[in-house]
Order: sequence, then C-alpha cells, then structure tokens
Amino acid sequence: MTYRHLSGIGMTSQRTRARMIERLRERGVRSEMVLSAMAAVPRHVFVEEALASRAYEDTALPLGMGQTISQPYIVGRMIEVLLSGRAGLGKTLEIGAGCGYQAAVLAQLTNEVYAVERIGPLLEKAKANMRKLQQFNVRLKHGDGQLGLPEAAPFDTIIVAAAASRVPPALPHQLAEGGRLILPVGTGEQYLLLIERTPQGFTESRLDGVRFVPLLSGTE
Ligand code: SAH
Repeated sequence: MTYRHLSGIGMTSQRTRARMIERLRERGVRSEMVLSAMAAVPRHVFVEEALASRAYEDTALPLGMGQTISQPYIVGRMIEVLLSGRAGLGKTLEIGAGCGYQAAVLAQLTNEVYAVERIGPLLEKAKANMRKLQQFNVRLKHGDGQLGLPEAAPFDTIIVAAAASRVPPALPHQLAEGGRLILPVGTGEQYLLLIERTPQGFTESRLDGVRFVPLLSGTE
C-alpha cells in the first residue's frame, strides 16, 4: 500500500479524523488497509469552508453544483468490497470524482487512479485539491463516465459514485479479467451492485441499499 503523509493537517482535524475512523470500525469497516487510507486523507480540505467543522461526521455533505461529497462509511464499504480477497485495487477508474475526496482515498491504495467528472468546475476543484494534497497519482478527466475511459482501459477496478438506472453497458467491458466494478443502481430504491469479470464472463452480486445522486448523461 502507498501511504503518504498529506499536508494541511491540523491537530484538531487529526483528532476528529481518528474519531471518524473509530465510527467506521463500529459500523463494520474491517479492512485496516481501507481504514488507514481513510485516516490519511484530510476530508476537511474537500468540503466548503463553512462546513469544515463537520468534515469528519459520517454523513454526505454538499460540495457545490447540487452534488455531495460521499459519506465516509459508503466510501469505506465500497472499497472494502473491491479489495476483499484481492492483493490490491490495481489500475482503478472512478466515475463521478466530484471534488476528489474518494479519488484521494483510492490513491492511498493504488498507484494508478483515473477519475472522470462530468461537471467542469467540480473537476477544476478536484484538480486544485489534489495539488493541495500533493497527490500526483490521480489523473482527472472531464467527460461522461457512462462511457468509461476507453483510452486507459482495461481496469482492475471501477467504482461509480452516482446511481445509474441500469448498468452502463460500456463499463463491464472495460474490466480486465479478474476485475471488479461496483456501482449504485436504481432510481427510487438504490442498491450496490458488484460485477466481476471472470474467464467465463460476468458475475453479479446485489449488496446493500444506498442513496446516491443520479448518474447523468453528457458534460457541463
Ligand atoms: N466521488 C465523490 C462523490 C461526488 S457525488 C466524492 O468522493 O465525494 C457524484 C458525482 O458524480 C457528482 O460530482 C456528479 O457530477 C458526478 N456524475 C454524475 N454523472 C456522471 C457521469 N455520467 N460522468 C461523470 N461524473 C458524473
């Protein structure tokens, strides 16, 4: 695992961050790799200044443009499922980077992260946040992630941070053999779906109920 000390970490944030990690443990995130990756990322850098005091609460928070920074428990849970029984995440694609929080967590666990965001100003925020954290192993792209990122495929891991009404057909095909894709599916009721590419084809497992912003088409 790549573990890096990130800049901009105050004492108060370190204490509240340690409490966030304890809460994640209580809620059932077991992987020490995932917990230490999450402990290494200062979430307050990713939320608006007015909300910085709430940055380590286990809730989704607004990040601007009507979007939300994902709830830490869900970030931990999804990454834990992706890692389970595998040596690492390998080459990873995130769809719906927002301002980059989950991409920064992923970047603690693997050297190669690609992250796609459809809203230009959010992508710029994500780029600025990565510079602030000196996180140089995340490649951020402006685009419609429903199409995946064919120029960098295949991926060992694909993680989607917005809910699709159905699985975007391009995504499973951009998995390497042994690769895993996790995404929230559904319009009203949503659930996490795990898709694995095996030598014989694809397997699907339906996991927890969740609540995400919708996966939308095109860019803005
Ligand atoms: N990963 C972020 C979560 C951001 S919320 C975090 O760590 O906090 C989900 C994001 O998905 C939003 O920023 C939204 O603009 C983006 N999104 C929705 N549909 C998309 C699409 N088709 N392609 C790329 N990004 C998309």
